[in-house]
Amino acid sequence: MHRFEFVRAATVADAVAELVREPTAQVVAGGTNLVDLMKCGVAKPTKIIDITQLPLNDIMLDAQGGLTIGALATNADVASHPLVQGRYPLLASAIMAGASGQLRNAATTGGNLLQRTRCSYFYNRRTPCNKRAPGTGCPAIEGQNRQHAILGTSEQCIATHPSDMCVALAALDAVVRVVGPAGERLIAMSDFHRLPDDAPERDTTLAREEIVLSVELPAAQHPLHSYLKIRDRLSFAFALVSVAAALRVTDGVISAAAVAIGGVAHKPWRVPEAEALLVNQAPEVLGFEECARRIVQGAVARHHNAFKVELAQRAIVRALTQAANGTPQSQSVKHVR
Ligand code: SF4
Repeated sequence: MHRFEFVRAATVADAVAELVREPTAQVVAGGTNLVDLMKCGVAKPTKIIDITQLPLNDIMLDAQGGLTIGALATNADVASHPLVQGRYPLLASAIMAGASGQLRNAATTGGNLLQRTRCSYFYNRRTPCNKRAPGTGCPAIEGQNRQHAILGTSEQCIATHPSDMCVALAALDAVVRVVGPAGERLIAMSDFHRLPDDAPERDTTLAREEIVLSVELPAAQHPLHSYLKIRDRLSFAFALVSVAAALRVTDGVISAAAVAIGGVAHKPWRVPEAEALLVNQAPEVLGFEECARRIVQGAVARHHNAFKVELAQRAIVRALTQAANGTPQSQSVKHVR
C-alpha cells in the first residue's frame, strides 16, 4: 500500500506553501478522480493537501455583470444555482449531463477542470502509456481507440479530456483565476487545457505549485444555447462527442456564435474561424453544416474512432439547430431530440 502524509490547509497561502515544500504533494477537494487514481496506483502523492476548508465555494456576480464561481463550489451547487440557471443555462445543462448525482454532489469546479483522461491504458499500470510514464509509448494509437481523440492529437498521445462542464466553460469564454508562489494570474479557458504534443503527461498550463481559485464568466452574451452529449448510454457515461452551442440572433441574423466540442480532443475544441462563418448569416442548416465541416477540418481518425468525424458534424448541426429554435437539449429527458 502506498503511504502518504495528510495535511489540512487553513489558508490558500498554506496550501501553496505545502506544494512548494513538497514536489510530490497533491491537492485534494472532492477526490472523485484523485482517489480513483490512487487506488489503481497511477497517482502516488507523498502528501495530500486537503483544501476543503478554504473559503472558495462562493458563487457570486461581479461588478461587470459576470459570475465568479469558487473552485470549491460543487458541480451540484453550480448547476442548481439560480444565477447559473438564469444567466448561464448552457453551463447548468452541461454539468447535469455529466457523471451521476452522487459524484456531482462531491466533485468541485476546480477538480472538474483538473480531472484526468479516462483512457483505459492510462489507468492500467500493466500497459505502457506516455501520459502516465513518459517515453513508454501509446498503445491506444494502434489499440482500442473508440473513445479517443480525432483532433489535436500527437504521436505521443490521442487521449481526450473527459469533462462536460469544461466544454460549456470554453464556449462561454470563461477565465480561470489561479494562485501560486508568484501571486495570482488569469488563464483563458482556451489556454488552460493543452494539447498533448511532446509532453502528454501535462494536461493543463497550471504550474505544479499553483491552485485554482475560481472560474470567472463574462456577462452572458448568448441568449440561445444547447448542450448536446452523445454517449453509449444516456447516464453516467463519458461523451463520444458533445457540443456546447451558443447563439445570439438579432432580427433573424446570427450576431454572435460560440461552438465548443468535447470528446474529440485533449481539450475542449473551438475553431474561431468556423464560428465566424455563422455570423451575419441566417440561422439555417446549410450554414450550420459549413461551420461543422470547418470545425472538424484536419481530423485524424484511428481504427475504431473514424465514426466520430461524421458524428461530430451531425451533433454540431443538431446542437446549433436546437439553440436557434430555442429548444435546448434536455438533460432530464434522457433521449436525444
Ligand atoms: Fe496514454 Fe494518451 Fe496513449 Fe492513452 S492515449 S495510452 S493516455 S499516451
